[in-house]
Amino acid sequence: MSANLTFPKGGVHPPELKGLTEKLAIEVMPLPDELELILGQHIGAPCTPTVKRRDEVSEGALVAEVTKGLGVPLHAPAAGSIKALGSSAHPLRVSAPSITIKTNPEAAPATWEVQEDWRQSTPEELLKKVHDAGIIGIGGAGFPTHVKLKPPADSPVDTLLLNGAECEPYITADHRTMLEKAEEVVEGGKILLKILGIKTCVIGIENNKPDAITAMSSAVAAATEAGFDIRVVALEVKYPQGSEKQLIQAITGRKVPSLALPSAVGVVVHNVSTTRAVRDAVVLSKPLIEKVITVSGRGINRPANLLVKVGTKVSDIVEFCGGVKPDLARIVLGGPMMGFAVSTLDIPVTKTTSSVLFLTEDEIDSRELSNCIRCGWCLEACPMGLEPKEIGIYVEAGRPEDTAQFGVFDCFECGSCAYVCPAKRPLVQFVRLAKMKAKR
Ligand code: SF4
Ligand code: SF4
Repeated sequence: MSANLTFPKGGVHPPELKGLTEKLAIEVMPLPDELELILGQHIGAPCTPTVKRRDEVSEGALVAEVTKGLGVPLHAPAAGSIKALGSSAHPLRVSAPSITIKTNPEAAPATWEVQEDWRQSTPEELLKKVHDAGIIGIGGAGFPTHVKLKPPADSPVDTLLLNGAECEPYITADHRTMLEKAEEVVEGGKILLKILGIKTCVIGIENNKPDAITAMSSAVAAATEAGFDIRVVALEVKYPQGSEKQLIQAITGRKVPSLALPSAVGVVVHNVSTTRAVRDAVVLSKPLIEKVITVSGRGINRPANLLVKVGTKVSDIVEFCGGVKPDLARIVLGGPMMGFAVSTLDIPVTKTTSSVLFLTEDEIDSRELSNCIRCGWCLEACPMGLEPKEIGIYVEAGRPEDTAQFGVFDCFECGSCAYVCPAKRPLVQFVRLAKMKAKR
């Protein structure tokens, strides 16, 4: 096995902080009384409800679909009745349209059993199952998976990469999934290979997860089927190792051109947990209705890796995890580098929620903002070779529309620049503002 592969430019080494949960097996969280399904969970057009108030739904039943444009359907995570078609708290917007399901604790959970052998299905049939099950990139991106599995005809793909880097501090959901469900991830990888019509799959895992590397390597070795070339590689621990372009360069040496998709260099990347969801969609006909998330930080009484229903509110998670500590200072949805601070516990988990962090004062950066001292650290940290300091200076000068020259549209908001900035400049917020105003 190759060791310590990494991307060549930039990157940072924040404290890993995974010790709170990395040894904790995935727990199934009990069904909450209510689930709130946000209609716009994916990149693309939001779903339109196919149910009305007081309708009874079974676990896995279709409750909303995309009628036009890019998107995937939504399904009931549990049996119950439709309580409301209204709105829910949202991490980025004040609120977002949603469906509320009053769950039925008396209903027996659905039994998701192996259906027919997927090897007998055509790639088109498998692709339809992936779409119909509502699969999106659950590692955080939220891009509809079936679309990524249909690369443009002029960009032939020869390599599938499975992303098991999980480079954000604290988060251990993919780690536990690879450890506890390695065979299912590998089977999902084979299904993706069949859909793509290719043979090569490389699974990249940061080398701070040696047990996951061992488990996945064993699962690959046991999957002795002819016709597939699947292998595991260890990656150096460096943030943002798990971003698509950096992962591709680390493993294949290929550099995705500015503003291009991975298929431009013959690669498709899927997260390992998304890959397992693909396996469940195809093998069990199970829609994406639940996911593994990490609940961590020193501000929660009982950190955990939880299997939760999509739509579970953070308040229910807090209750299940023994409540918060008195010195809780911030709640973050996602990782500390790319996640979003939230001010309410009413927010529901979506298909893309990877973690909920409860951070105390000593876990957050509370230094005061000051002027840029032109130290250049942000340039050194940027894995895309951009000029975040210039973007910030132009935004502050009221010229955000002139920032394309500094590569603002190549920024994927990893936060490495802001992490190293001694002046605590809000460089990612500057980038977001600039993207809204600048022209490509
Ligand atoms: S947030 Fe953007 S500008 Fe900053 S380091 Fe990451 S890619 Fe570069
Ligand atoms: S790291 Fe911060 S202070 Fe240093 S050049 Fe970049 S924006 Fe300025």
